[in-house]
Amino acid sequence: MIDCSGANTRLSRSRRHGRTLHAILGWYEGVDGVTDAVELYFDAAVRPWYGWVFPETAERVNVGICFAPGGANAYERFDAFVEGRLAARMRGASRTGRLVGHPIATSWRAHSLVADGVLTAGEAGSLVDSATAEGIYHALESGRLAAEVLGDVVAHGFEPTAEALSAYGRAVRRRLGRRLLAGRLLVGALRTPLLDIGLGLGSRPAAQAALTRALVKG
Ligand SMILES: Cc1cc2nc3c(=O)[nH]c(=O)nc-3n(C[C@H](O)[C@H](O)[C@H](O)COP(=O)(O)OP(=O)(O)OC[C@H]3O[C@@H](n4cnc5c(N)ncnc54)[C@H](O)[C@@H]3O)c2cc1C
Repeated sequence: MIDCSGANTRLSRSRRHGRTLHAILGWYEGVDGVTDAVELYFDAAVRPWYGWVFPETAERVNVGICFAPGGANAYERFDAFVEGRLAARMRGASRTGRLVGHPIATSWRAHSLVADGVLTAGEAGSLVDSATAEGIYHALESGRLAAEVLGDVVAHGFEPTAEALSAYGRAVRRRLGRRLLAGRLLVGALRTPLLDIGLGLGSRPAAQAALTRALVKG
């Protein structure tokens, strides 16, 4: 079996090096100043993580935050983020539906992904960047690697024991290990005054390019 059942997996939960972030988001129409640009805000309400405005259609945007649990609750943080960053632009806006919360299971080491008869892929294995909360690429890559390894074991007529499947753990570490570790280092940096200094310099092209390189991995 390949467990790809996401952050709330009940199939192959094991202790991992990482943390579960919380996300809460809502959909709005009528927000002023929306373009086709994705907006990310490093904000005191969620630091060192971030809030966003994602345009989905010409009329609708998705506004959300992700943060580490503890302190103010998700609704309080969301309100503080919206009030601090978007209040003027949201005077004429209305929300469609309720706010939705979701955990994001992150880690900085790919491990415990194999057991007898089970390969764990994607967010079920906490394969999400702990700084940016990006997990889509990791889920696709780990799913592909899991299928390759399991297919190979089955094609050779072997039993899918943990030992026979162990190549999967190594393949994920080779493919995603550095990305996950870089996320951890970036979280550490964002907790220091470096973020404020970076944002202070943010209008300078060289600083913008450096921040973009740190957040967007190829
Ligand atoms: C608000 C939010 C914003 C995000 N933004 C980004 C982003 O911009 N970029 C990015 O890269 N990542 C982002 N992520 C993270 C990313 O969405 C996830 O890491 C990624 O989708 C994980 O993929 P997955 O296939 O492992 O799990 P999921 O996408 O969670 O899929 C798991 C699926 O398995 C199903 N399932 C669960 N249990 C069972 C079962 N027993 N039987 C059958 N099916 C089951 C679930 O219903 C679900 O459909 C975001 C996450 C959140 C919450």
